[in-house]
Amino acid sequence: MKRTASGKFTGGIIFSPSTKALKERWNVQQEKEIYFQPDRVYIPLQQQIGAPSEAVVEKGDVVKQGDLIGQAGGFVGATIHASISGTVKKIVDWPDASGNQVPTVVIQRDKNAPEVSFSKKDNYQALTKEELIQRVSDAGIVGMGGATFPTHVKLTVDDDITVKSIVLNGAECEPFLEADALLMENESQRIITGAKIAQKIFAAEEILIAIETDKPEAIAAMQKSAAEFTDVQIVPVPTNYPQGGEKQLLESLLQIEVAIDGGLPVEAGAYLMNVSTSAAVASAVENKQPLISRYCTVSGDVRQKQTVIFPIGTLAGDIIDFCGGFDGLPEKILMGGPMMGKALATLDVPLTKSSNGLIIIGKKSNEAFEESPCIRCNLCSEVCPMRLEPQNIDLFYRQGNSKRCQDLKADACINCGACSYVCPARRDLARNITAAAGDIKKLIEEAKESA
Ligand code: SF4
Ligand code: SF4
Repeated sequence: MKRTASGKFTGGIIFSPSTKALKERWNVQQEKEIYFQPDRVYIPLQQQIGAPSEAVVEKGDVVKQGDLIGQAGGFVGATIHASISGTVKKIVDWPDASGNQVPTVVIQRDKNAPEVSFSKKDNYQALTKEELIQRVSDAGIVGMGGATFPTHVKLTVDDDITVKSIVLNGAECEPFLEADALLMENESQRIITGAKIAQKIFAAEEILIAIETDKPEAIAAMQKSAAEFTDVQIVPVPTNYPQGGEKQLLESLLQIEVAIDGGLPVEAGAYLMNVSTSAAVASAVENKQPLISRYCTVSGDVRQKQTVIFPIGTLAGDIIDFCGGFDGLPEKILMGGPMMGKALATLDVPLTKSSNGLIIIGKKSNEAFEESPCIRCNLCSEVCPMRLEPQNIDLFYRQGNSKRCQDLKADACINCGACSYVCPARRDLARNITAAAGDIKKLIEEAKESA
């Protein structure tokens, strides 16, 4: 059956003319791959949801690119590998994008080290389901669209669950980010192989690859590589934020509604995977290549706006320097996109397996973010794809009333930032609702302890 996407899900926003104008100004257009090779990398041992990884190297150890440096701390965890060849200088507590101090392995590049090749290719069709999942686990793959959930865990489901559709998410979750689009243009074959591997694991009937209509080059490249398969369809979806959210994509693509509190796509018969994750799965299985590099869009008020392939552990400051430095005085540096990105407190934060964007917002671009009182216009509720009441959750959060925030299901927020974007009062709703969700988690834990 030929699929078409309605592109409709509850809530969401179409970008305003002023955002579209900024998109033009911040647009990244490039055909070729641009690699950055820093002299030093800072690789955090916690880059995934789940248990932190445990270092298996010590200061002074010589490592090759791809060597294991962090063992998974449990089944819900991920292995970590050296992204460059060199010497372990130290293992220190180092800030991550959220400002947490995380044990981090620092490697100094050996400029004379021979290049490591992952070109040996195995046929995934000759491997069993268990062997495929093991290779994904060995490679330390996590959801690269931002979720960072270990992929081998996501691929391991109960036997009574039937997955009919593998859905690849090529709908870039944030405006101004082009990393997934460029990957689709450059490595469409690898992305489809990753989807085929997931299809084999689940014995799924079909593969659907959703790409926003404003990415015609990516659509063309993926269509070309998909042409040889009758069970792979490229489905263009309207550019409607947050189209790339898991639940929103399922609603617009398959007309499936997943429960907002705790429902999983796989229980609705669909396995969702970001296109970058899919490419990484193909490399892990076919080439035994661990996840040590990825594409990242560096845009905003920076001299050279471009998508760069960087080794995991590259510092934000180093990649900004590589892109020619700031264009004017920076006010805010966001790891991720402008809607959901985390504002960095320091340029010494390393980019990780989930870093698909780095956006620099200069003084002029930031003027639009000054906050004023709520005018009860209700726009934030109208656009919320999770059917929440952002203005009320924000109010109760500011009053410190976690119980009311819980009643209003603040913990179902997917942190898409749509409410903050449309708010004419420029209230930082998404940040406060995320903080409210954290308070609710503590409430639940306290209730469990006192039970
Ligand atoms: S950030 Fe949360 S509350 Fe705001 S629109 Fe998105 S899902 Fe709704
Ligand atoms: S969009 Fe902003 S001003 Fe309007 S109701 Fe929501 S919080 Fe208030």
